[in-house]
Amino acid sequence: MNRLKLAKKYQQPEENIMMNIGTLAKSKEGLIDLSIGDPDLITDERIINQAAEDAKAGHTRYTASDGSQEFIQTVIKHYKAYYNLDFAPSQVRATVGAMHGMYLTLLAIIDPGDEVIIHEPYFSPYKDQIELAGGVPIVVPTYEKDGFQLDTSILEKAITKKTKAIIINSPNNPTGAVFSQETFQRIAEIAIEHELFILSDEIYEELVFDGSFVPMATFAPENTITFSGFSKSFAMTGWRIGYMIAPTYVSQTAKLINENITYSAPSISQQAGIYALKNASKLIPEVTNVFKQRLDYVKKRVDAIDFLHLGNVQGTMYAFINISNTHLDSASFTKKLLDETQVLVVPGKAFGINTGNQHIRLAATQKISVLKEAFDRIEQMSF
Ligand code: PLP
Repeated sequence: MNRLKLAKKYQQPEENIMMNIGTLAKSKEGLIDLSIGDPDLITDERIINQAAEDAKAGHTRYTASDGSQEFIQTVIKHYKAYYNLDFAPSQVRATVGAMHGMYLTLLAIIDPGDEVIIHEPYFSPYKDQIELAGGVPIVVPTYEKDGFQLDTSILEKAITKKTKAIIINSPNNPTGAVFSQETFQRIAEIAIEHELFILSDEIYEELVFDGSFVPMATFAPENTITFSGFSKSFAMTGWRIGYMIAPTYVSQTAKLINENITYSAPSISQQAGIYALKNASKLIPEVTNVFKQRLDYVKKRVDAIDFLHLGNVQGTMYAFINISNTHLDSASFTKKLLDETQVLVVPGKAFGINTGNQHIRLAATQKISVLKEAFDRIEQMSF
């Protein structure tokens, strides 16, 4: 897509729902903001202290453009220890968050007109990133009746001669679904058969409440490009640090592109990431438990409200709540909610119009006492 057209699209109120509702909300007194996936948690002080020490010791300069060797080696050791996966240093690069890695990859692999399949509801930036990179997003649905699991036969039917890649996001924003290992296995088989890349956004890999996560690279190592990082599992959204792991030729292309953009990810954030990954087994459960408890609470409160419905939330920090009993679409419901209760959520429409418009996404980004206040207000609403 022409970049100027994209900018124009964002000037139209209907198109940028999240931004417009957010702007609307700023003027509200007593606002409870459960919209953006940026939790109230402050990064663990052990990570902060270590980063401060590292800054004093001189980690304030550029690193190599793909990240310091220590960062890359720490990511490699982490994947070996956690997932028994082997990667070479040439496959790993530090990125300015997972989304930066995704965009570099799309720029690296897409020729004009190539199709990239995404599953709906989808994390909103995917579609624009594909278009900005010159590709065409092809949307396949997932359904609430299936627990928002991906039906791989629908995926397969969407493949054409122009398909270059499939973006997979599990654990999923906004639905909280975690795709089964059988689904991952089948996606891998399809990608291998059709010679496609799988761009696997695994930023919520640690926020899984029952069972554990198995990365896509386990099933299709040659086809998979993995994106992950520190924003969610370590409450480090503002440090802007993540990584991508790809076949060497893709990683090298992404590196060349990025040398003309940001050069390297922030040095100090790489240091924080090294400490975080080395201490992952201590640090992550604390974050995961926070979201599990909050979402258990949200589920309990939603279950007691007859105009709302929520299925089982398997992971992430989000509840994708069905509002169809209110007979309002997602944008109207979100506006009424904000006007009457000062609770801000994201209309499901922001994640795709086909399957999202009867939902809202509530991010459990606030303490249980604040969630309690939010639901005490919501249950007073009438339809
Ligand atoms: N991918 C998904 C699915 C997300 O929901 C988010 C943040 O909300 C990101 C990526 C952003 O990750 P990062 O902060 O590492 O760029």
